Amino acid sequence: MPELPEVHAHAERLADQFAGRVLVRFRPLKFTALRTALPAPDEAYGQPLLGVGRRGKYILLEFESVQFAVHLMQGGRLLVDEKQSAKPRGGQARFVFDDGPALLLTEQGTERRAGVWCLPHDSAFDSPPLDVLGPDADTVTADQMAELFAMKNQRIHGFLRDQRSIAGIGRRMSNEICHRARISPFAMTGRLGRDGAAKVVDAIRATIDECLSYERTRTDMSSSKDRPSDVHTRTGDPCPVCGDEIRAVEYSGYTVNYCATCQTGGKVLADNTTSRFLR
Ligand SMILES: [Zn+2]
Repeated sequence: MPELPEVHAHAERLADQFAGRVLVRFRPLKFTALRTALPAPDEAYGQPLLGVGRRGKYILLEFESVQFAVHLMQGGRLLVDEKQSAKPRGGQARFVFDDGPALLLTEQGTERRAGVWCLPHDSAFDSPPLDVLGPDADTVTADQMAELFAMKNQRIHGFLRDQRSIAGIGRRMSNEICHRARISPFAMTGRLGRDGAAKVVDAIRATIDECLSYERTRTDMSSSKDRPSDVHTRTGDPCPVCGDEIRAVEYSGYTVNYCATCQTGGKVLADNTTSRFLR
C-alpha cells in the first residue's frame, strides 16, 4: 500500500499538473466510490483547484468550498486521464476539469476499498474519516510521541501501523523504522520512554526522507517492489547494517521483517499472542 512518501510525492505531481484548473464535474463510476452524502461535490463546480495536499495517506483536492479526500488503499491510483473513456478499466470516479485531462480514480482487484470523501473545506480535518487520524508522521515530535507511547501500551509495530496513533505509516515503513531505530518490532510502547520516542521519531524522519527522495525522482507512483527497503520483503537476505539474516514473523495479511542482531539482541521472535483461529 502506498504510504506517506508515495502519497506525498503524488500530491506534489498532481498539484503541478492540476492546480488552477476549474472543476466542471465529479462523476462516480461505481456507486460505492463516493463515501459522503453532504456536502455535494457540485459545490465545487466552477471553482479552481487551489492545491493538492495530504493528510496521513489521504490525498486532498482542495477547492474553496470543499476538499475531496481520496484514499487509494491497496490497489487504487489517481491517474491523469487524457482519454476519458466511458468505461475505464478499474474506474471508480472521475474529476473533470474545464479543459485538458481529467483525474481518474482507479482500483484494480476486487477489494473496492479506495474511495472519495467530499468534506466541508474549513472543517475537513474534523470530519470523518480524517478526524480520527493521529499526528502526521512527518511532523510528529519526540514529545508528542512520548505522550502517545504513554497513552497506550502496545507493540511498536502495531502502534506505527495504526493511523489513529500516527498517520501515514504502513507495513513497509513500520518494518524499516523499527530496524533503523534498532528497536524490536515487538517492543512495548509503554516501556520505550522519552529516549525511545526520540529514536523512533528520528527513524521515521530518516525513512520518510529516503522514500520521498526516491519517489520524487519518478513521474508516477512507484509499485511496492520498487520502493527502497533494508528489511521489508527481504526475508533471508543479509542485513545491510550487520550482515545477519533478515527474519520474518508471518501474519495472515502481512509480514514483520527484522534483524535479530540489530534489533532484539539476537533473540528470534515468535508470535505467541495471536492465533490464526482467533483473528
Ligand atoms: Zn542487522
